[in-house]
Amino acid sequence: MTTNRTFTMLKPDAVEKGHIGAILEKINASGFRIVALKLTQMTKQDAESFYAIHNERPFFGELVEYMTRGPIVAAILEKENAVEDFRTLIGATNPADAAEGTIRKLYAASIGENAVHGSDSDENAAIESAFHFSGREQF
Ligand code: UDP
Ligand code: MG
Repeated sequence: MTTNRTFTMLKPDAVEKGHIGAILEKINASGFRIVALKLTQMTKQDAESFYAIHNERPFFGELVEYMTRGPIVAAILEKENAVEDFRTLIGATNPADAAEGTIRKLYAASIGENAVHGSDSDENAAIESAFHFSGREQF
């Protein structure tokens, strides 16, 4: 059902720096169709829950602080092989390791403030999409 969809967030650093338009343009130009889209802000509880898998990691507190400090753009994207192709488009978690032309290479400052989120599996894409969007917000 969701094998052709993935979930993304343009994180607070990308929004603060005015990169919403450029990143969405790149996403569209790479063949993804935007099927849900909103500007929103995560609460501490939202971020702790969204990133619960990382709650034992040393960077968890900073991650929650970062992801809640300002608005994000949440979106659901549709394309053949969406999850894998979008991870390729965003590049490695650490922008220092990200390939040329990837979103993180272009717009991320550091491994922590790395501009964009992309789901890592079809299962998580569905969970993360439902976290941010109701059925009537998905097209
Ligand atoms: N992160 C961090 N320090 C690290 C690893 C990750 O601050 O050493 C943050 C970073 O914002 C990353 C998020 O935690 O995007 C989730 O980490 P994950 O390993 O899932 O990376 P992603 O799937 O986003 O590439
Ligand atoms: Mg991840």
